[in-house]
Amino acid sequence: MRTELSIEFFPPQTPEGAAKLKGERAKLAELKPVFFSVTYGAGGSTQARTFETIKEIGAEGHQAAPHLSCIGSTKAGMRDILNYFKNEGIRRIVALRGDLPSGMADPGELRYANELVEFIRAETGDWFHLEVAAYPEWHPQAKSPKDDLQAFARKVKAGANSAITQYFYNADAYFHFVDEARALGVEIPIVPGIMPIGSFSKLARFSDACGADLPRWMRKKFESFGDDSDSIRAFGLDVVTELCERLLAGGAPGLHFYSMNQAALTTEIWNRLNS
Ligand code: FAD
Repeated sequence: MRTELSIEFFPPQTPEGAAKLKGERAKLAELKPVFFSVTYGAGGSTQARTFETIKEIGAEGHQAAPHLSCIGSTKAGMRDILNYFKNEGIRRIVALRGDLPSGMADPGELRYANELVEFIRAETGDWFHLEVAAYPEWHPQAKSPKDDLQAFARKVKAGANSAITQYFYNADAYFHFVDEARALGVEIPIVPGIMPIGSFSKLARFSDACGADLPRWMRKKFESFGDDSDSIRAFGLDVVTELCERLLAGGAPGLHFYSMNQAALTTEIWNRLNS
């Protein structure tokens, strides 16, 4: 199978976490991803740790793509970060609005991701390859699917090169989204974000917050396993591998794995796809 792979991490909170991630990254590097991306906490809360992880990835000889969210920030602050990235030789950014941390009311000078993309292009021309987020099951705050799709098209028009989706388990939602985006004139690659399933209860909590749908048939089946983690793992691997197979057969241009800083599930799924 030939398809592009990218893998996402979150910045570890402790030196132990950083050491563990280094080991997991070495295993994942064997899958030869095009890039590793590193998330950025709400309101810049993980900034130093995101930058540190990005630097380590670069020093290991891999392409590193920091996520960057703009909500609650100033243009001057964003300019400093872009200059820092340029000096570090970063060529790819995942450009996001992000979410205002609770207790913070001022949205700042860049309120939506399309404004951030526009700003980055105005400041740095074509230096960065810009990824943006896409939501096949719609962003939880979107007024309507139509509004969300138009917001997505605006980010693309502002200069995004490619998109990565929120994770989902319903391939038809992805295909429908891609068809609708194409009908609006969006031509960039839209890469499915893939969330391997290690713990179902954690995933269920997380999915509620980000608006990803867990189909009833999957939920019922996972719940039926109770605490049997081997069965949860085995079923999760089957479900996600089949999802990836369907996506690739239907024309998805690549896969972006939300690794949760663990190599095992992503590696197993990727190897199954390539066997
Ligand atoms: P936008 O594209 O700006 O959209 C946000 C909402 O506003 C949508 O509902 C949209 O329909 C609406 N909207 C857009 N433009 C307008 C407008 N002009 N007027 C009115 N409404 C509008 N979060 C983090 O904190 N850190 C990360 O590192 C991170 N990485 C992510 C990576 C991926 C691939 C994805 C899919 C999500 C990631 N997120 C991350 C989550 C993301 O920050 C949230 O989903 C956030 O709420 C929206 O960011 P966005 O860039 O999609 O926003």
